[in-house]
Amino acid sequence: MEDEYEPPTNEFSGDFLEKLEKENDPDSQYTPISQLNPSSKDWIIKVRVLKKSDIRNFANRSQNGKLFSIDLLDKFGTEIRATIFNDDVDLFYNQFQVGKIYLISKGIVKDSKPGFSHGNSGYQINLNSNSSVTLQEDDENIAKFHFDFLPLVQIDQFPKGSTVDMVGVLQNLSPISVINTRNGETSKRSGFLCDKNSKIDLVFWGESAKNIDISNFEEPIVLAIKSGKIGEYQTKNLSISSTSQLYFNPNLPVARDLIRHFTQNGNDTDLPLAGKIVTKNYNWVTRPRFMIQDIMTIDLGEKKSQSFVIAGTIINITSSNFDKVAYPSCPSENCSKKMKQIGDRWYCEKCDQDYPNCEYKYILKVHIADSSNFIFTTAFNDVAEELLSVKASYLNDLFQSQKTQEYEQVFQKIQNRRFLFFISIYENSYMEKLSRQYRISSFVPLEDNCIVQSQQLIQFIQMYF
Ligand SMILES: [Zn+2]
Repeated sequence: MEDEYEPPTNEFSGDFLEKLEKENDPDSQYTPISQLNPSSKDWIIKVRVLKKSDIRNFANRSQNGKLFSIDLLDKFGTEIRATIFNDDVDLFYNQFQVGKIYLISKGIVKDSKPGFSHGNSGYQINLNSNSSVTLQEDDENIAKFHFDFLPLVQIDQFPKGSTVDMVGVLQNLSPISVINTRNGETSKRSGFLCDKNSKIDLVFWGESAKNIDISNFEEPIVLAIKSGKIGEYQTKNLSISSTSQLYFNPNLPVARDLIRHFTQNGNDTDLPLAGKIVTKNYNWVTRPRFMIQDIMTIDLGEKKSQSFVIAGTIINITSSNFDKVAYPSCPSENCSKKMKQIGDRWYCEKCDQDYPNCEYKYILKVHIADSSNFIFTTAFNDVAEELLSVKASYLNDLFQSQKTQEYEQVFQKIQNRRFLFFISIYENSYMEKLSRQYRISSFVPLEDNCIVQSQQLIQFIQMYF
């Protein structure tokens, strides 16, 4: 046919270069994870298994079953989670090994549940008996771990249950305790994770609480967390379970930088705690201030209780006897009854149950003075924990292990410092004698606190207009 026309081939056209690249890069036949979506067909991914979960049983309205999941990373640094259910668990569980490279195809790509998106692809894969999985030689182009670290202060921005990667210096790690939850008994350890600007509550659950061992590390210890879960208990926290991965002092620039910073500046525990759920109500700071002498004698009215603002100095905290600092509380949710030690177990009368351990809660006795008089006040757990910047269980540990200097330092840090206190007063009569109990409901430091001082000033100025 005369009309047949063939376009001139240009050796340097895009198509040609792409073809050449494909021939030179045998991996180009594999689909980047970032291009997978529920309508993808005939895809093959080449991935490293970063993490394999235990086999877990589940039960819901329609069925009982079991599952496990694997976290996969490709050479472009994109991650996706694959889940295998029921009979297919037996087919694949031993085949997948952490750290090995696989070609995977014929899985079902699905949307991730919102808030539960793992990795950074936004999708997940279900594998079944139709899927193809083949082990490959190791491939250095695929990284051995992958993080998307978030600054700790951003913990506020994620809903409960979200999965995030975070890195920081581990501080105040509590001893292991066993607590009762809705799902039965579980082990727990808690501490803080700190970066240069803030700290967050860190909670290790179950096996991860049991397995954590820092005895061979020197402080400061950097902990990189892959797939921590955002939890909520008074503050937002980072929860570590069997689906999280922990790397101690990982060979990463961010880790070296943190160690340098904390070595130079000291293992500082005074960083602000990020993730407070209840934005504290500080409206009370603008209320009129009272002298201690006045609140000791003022008429409390019918209710026998009232709250007042005072500006005072902490002149002493009862610390020599730990029984006066904190009490062994029942670790069960919604119970904070004091427990009795019986042998090496702890017994809660209210729950009528014994536990292998307790959780310490503060009943701190704080001695506050101003120029008019002084009072003994009590700071309960949340307030005391904020005041001392450490958890009661950690302090108990310091006390029991006779780390006297470290123990005393916790109290000395706030001794002789001035605060604005919101004090609740309760009047009791005992043997026809009236007595007043003073409780610290809230506080703000007064030194260098220009916000409080200017609010006070504004209030004074407003009084004259
Ligand atoms: Zn109890």
